Amino acid sequence: MTEITNLLDLDPAQLIAYCGELGEKPFRAKQLQRWIHQFGASDFDSMTDLAKSLRDKLKTHARISAPAVISDHTSSDGTRKWLLDVGQGNAVETVFIPEENRGTLCISTQAGCAVNCRFCSTGKQGFNRNLSVGEIIGQLWMAEFELRRTKGIEPGPKGERQITNVVMMGMGEPLLNFEPTVTALKLMLDDNAYGLSRRRVTVSTSGVVPMMDKLSQECPVALAVSVHASNDALRDGLVPLNKKYPLSELMAACRRYLEFAPRDFVTFEYCMLDGVNDTDEHARQLIDLVLHGPEPVPCKFNLIPFNPFPESGLKRSNNARIKAFAQILMDAGIVTTIRKTRGDDIDAACGQLAGEVQDRTRVQERMQKMAEYQKKFGENFGRIVEVPR
Ligand code: SAH
Ligand code: SF4
Repeated sequence: MTEITNLLDLDPAQLIAYCGELGEKPFRAKQLQRWIHQFGASDFDSMTDLAKSLRDKLKTHARISAPAVISDHTSSDGTRKWLLDVGQGNAVETVFIPEENRGTLCISTQAGCAVNCRFCSTGKQGFNRNLSVGEIIGQLWMAEFELRRTKGIEPGPKGERQITNVVMMGMGEPLLNFEPTVTALKLMLDDNAYGLSRRRVTVSTSGVVPMMDKLSQECPVALAVSVHASNDALRDGLVPLNKKYPLSELMAACRRYLEFAPRDFVTFEYCMLDGVNDTDEHARQLIDLVLHGPEPVPCKFNLIPFNPFPESGLKRSNNARIKAFAQILMDAGIVTTIRKTRGDDIDAACGQLAGEVQDRTRVQERMQKMAEYQKKFGENFGRIVEVPR
């Protein structure tokens, strides 16, 4: 055991095995896990109920560290966004969205993304690399305890939990980084860690069909599917993965998933693109797809006003169009929400999350660029989304 192990990388079973290697009993792993994930401890000396000999061993062989925070912005409405350094010039973002009765954390699973959806700037950067378990769960670990520190709330199970919901809707395609994502999910659900219910944790996917099936077996949390188009020809152009897993297969996969899911519906995300996918006809096609197709799917729709970025060449549908589109779906009996925007005084939004940061000085440049974009594209640019109930 010469390497230093980051304990954030280990799931409960691995932590038990790790403690075993150190000659410790399994209950020590549970204690350690609670210190890490319930008290946010990173200093072994603070773990007072562990024997000094174990603390000493841990100090030599292990560490507890999340990706370093490059920047930290809080919007006037409380939305808070961290830019995190994941090495080699890559950065990812984590966003906390507070609401009256809950706090949602939107986390990233990859630096960049290989799916390359036409309307997504993360995709436009290409794929850099998968995040490790520690880098994924580290976002929740960092955010929960940082939020508590800011508010003066004590760590541990007695202190009021700040993050009640997690959505994997940041950078990257979670199901293309499957194992680390699932390990991180299991930690989120574990009673000796964050103890979130499966209904309060959502994976969003662009439709990696075989991995949806795998997720339904290994860790069936709530599912959101980025559908964005009402027919294959259109979706092929927006979400290239559609050529591999077309809509009929995607709908069938959603139905299969629902047999195991903690909720009895799938949330379909639909990015509203002016003149591209937002006509009445598209809405009617969607109804046929999800209600009258060979594989009807119990679902809700979440319409996301497109967050523009210059290279996309796409525009956001206007509000009247989004409402009319929503109305057609609702008239067919489909629960439909329009994603509200939050945190518009800090720069963050679906599909605009930061990519590579070659060096830290560029963060400032990027922030400035975002401000320019806001001037150019109106105050809606860079707004953060609110996730529906
Ligand atoms: N890769 C996963 C999860 C991350 S993206 C997925 O695609 O589902 C989270 C959501 O933001 C997806 O629904 C995605 O389609 C949407 N999105 C991406 N770019 C966007 C943009 N520019 N404007 C609005 N929504 C966008
Ligand atoms: Fe990747 Fe999701 Fe962006 Fe598509 S929308 S490029 S799958 S992060």
